[in-house]
Amino acid sequence: MIFENIEAFRASGFAPRIGIVGAGPAGISIAHMLGKANIPTVIFEAGGNDYSDESQDFYKGKVIGDPYFDLDVTRLRFLGGSSNHWAGWCRVLEAHDFLPKPYVPHTGWPITRAAIEPFLPQAFEILGIQPFTPDIPISADMRQFDLIKSDHVHFGEKFMPELGRNTNIAVVLSTEVQTLIGDGRKVTSARLWSQGAPAGEIVLDYFVVCTGGLENSRLLLWSNEQSNGGVVPNAAALGRYWMEHPMYTGGDAIITNPDAFAWDGDGQAFLTPTPDAMAKRGILNFHIQIETNPYPGIKGYVADLACLMPEWTEWISEQLSLHLRCTSQIHVAWEQAPRPDNRIMLSKTDRDAAGVPRIELHWTKDELDHRTMLEGLRMFGETIAAQDIGRLRISDWVRDGSPYPDGMELAGNHHMGGTRMSTDPATGVVDADCKVHGMDNLFVGGSSVFATGGQCTPTTTITALALRLGDHLSRVASS
Ligand SMILES: Cc1cc2nc3c(=O)[nH]c(=O)nc-3n(C[C@H](O)[C@H](O)[C@H](O)COP(=O)(O)OP(=O)(O)OC[C@H]3O[C@@H](n4cnc5c(N)ncnc54)[C@H](O)[C@@H]3O)c2cc1C
Repeated sequence: MIFENIEAFRASGFAPRIGIVGAGPAGISIAHMLGKANIPTVIFEAGGNDYSDESQDFYKGKVIGDPYFDLDVTRLRFLGGSSNHWAGWCRVLEAHDFLPKPYVPHTGWPITRAAIEPFLPQAFEILGIQPFTPDIPISADMRQFDLIKSDHVHFGEKFMPELGRNTNIAVVLSTEVQTLIGDGRKVTSARLWSQGAPAGEIVLDYFVVCTGGLENSRLLLWSNEQSNGGVVPNAAALGRYWMEHPMYTGGDAIITNPDAFAWDGDGQAFLTPTPDAMAKRGILNFHIQIETNPYPGIKGYVADLACLMPEWTEWISEQLSLHLRCTSQIHVAWEQAPRPDNRIMLSKTDRDAAGVPRIELHWTKDELDHRTMLEGLRMFGETIAAQDIGRLRISDWVRDGSPYPDGMELAGNHHMGGTRMSTDPATGVVDADCKVHGMDNLFVGGSSVFATGGQCTPTTTITALALRLGDHLSRVASS
C-alpha cells in the first residue's frame, strides 16, 4: 500500500509492528523481506515520489577538513534515495575485507563474509546482475576483478508495484521520522514531521533506521540528545569512523599487451591487490582502473610516447596538428582507515525546517591514505613492468606529496561508518545483527554499519546486509 501522506495512512487504520525509516536501497530491501514474511510494516519516506528543492534542503550541511561534495548534492532525499542517481557499479566486499588487518587499528568486522553469502543470489537478482566471474591473477601481487556496470536499478520505481500490492506493507511518503524517543532499553515512539509541520507520534514494536550513510548518524545523534542518551545508550562511537572511497587520476600508462587483460565493454579493466601484497606494504585495499584511449596507427605510437616523454609528444603533436594524450589513464580508488576523528557531528548553529541540527562532517585524508594511493600505484607499475605488459608514469603530485588536485573525482559518494558494526560498544554502535548495542528494538540498515569499506562500491553489500537484516527481523517479529 502506498500512502501519499500521513493523514491517508492514519485513515487506513493499518496497524504495523515494524517501522522502517527511509525508502532507499536498504529500507526497501528490508521491506521486501518483511513483506514476503507477512509482517505488518510501515516505511516512512521523508521525500515524495520525485526530487524537490524543498526536500533536498533538509540535506544541506557543512564539511570541515578536506574538500568534499556538498552534502545536499552527494545524496537524494526522495523515494528510492540515492539509487535515483547512482552509477550502478556492483561488487561485494571480499572475504578478506571482513578480517582485521593487524597493522591498522579498528579494522575487522564481527561477522565474516559467510554471513551475507546466503543473501547474495537475491541481492544479484534485485540489482539485475549475474554472479561475478572469477578473478584473473595478473601477478603474485595483483589480480583483475569483475566490477559489473549494472542498469543502476532505481529502487523506488522497481519496488513500488510490489510494495503497493502488499497489504502488509505501507509506504508513507512525504513523512519523516524527526526524532526517535527512547528510554535506554527501547525506542518507545517516533516523532513524525510531514509537509512542513509536526505530525504526531507513532508507537511500534521495532524500528529500523535506513536514512543513508550520513543521515543515520544525524538522526541517532539528535534522537539520543533529545532522550538524554536513551536511544543509543553506548554512544562513544556514534557518528565516528566515517569513511569514503577517495579516488583520483594517478598516472598514465602504455599497455603494450592488451591481451593480458579482459576489457569490459567500455574498454576498462580493474585490478586489486592480494591481502599479502597489502600487508607487505602496510597499506589498505585499493583498486586501479585502467581506462584506454585507443588511437589507431601512428597516432597510437605517439600517444604511447606521451606516457613517457610528454614534452616531446607535445612538440610532435603540434607538428602533426594532433591533440594526443597517453593511451591509458590510470585511476586509483582506495579504502580509508576507520578513524574516530573522521566523524559526523550536529551543528550548534544551523537547523533544518523541522528544527533538527544540520550535519557537520569532519573529514580528512591522512598519511595512510597517501601511502595507500602511492604504494598502490607503484605496485601496479611494478606489476605491469615485471610482466612486460606495460609501463606506468605516476603523476608528479602523487610522487612528491603535493596537495590532492582540485577538480578531479574526489571520492565515490560512498558514505560509510558512523554507526559501525562491532562487538565492543566502545568502538561500534550496532552488533552483528545490526541491532543498536543496549537497545531491544532498534536496528540500523545501510553502509553506516560498515566496519571497514574495502575497495569496492557499497550498494551490493548494503543490499545483501539489508536482506539479511530483513530475514532476521522477520524471525524476531514472529517469535
Ligand atoms: C552520484 C552517485 C553515484 C553512485 N554510484 C554508485 C555505484 O556505482 N555503486 C554503488 O554501489 N553505489 C553508488 N552510489 C552510492 C549509493 O547510491 C548508496 O550506497 C545507496 O543509495 C545507499 O542506500 P541507502 O538506502 O542506505 O541510503 P539512501 O539511498 O540515501 O536512502 C535513504 C532514504 O531515506 C530517506 N530519509 C532520509 N532521512 C529520513 C527521515 N528522517 N525519515 C524518513 N526518511 C528519510 C531518504 O529520502 C532516502 O530515500 C552512488 C551515489 C551517488 C550519489
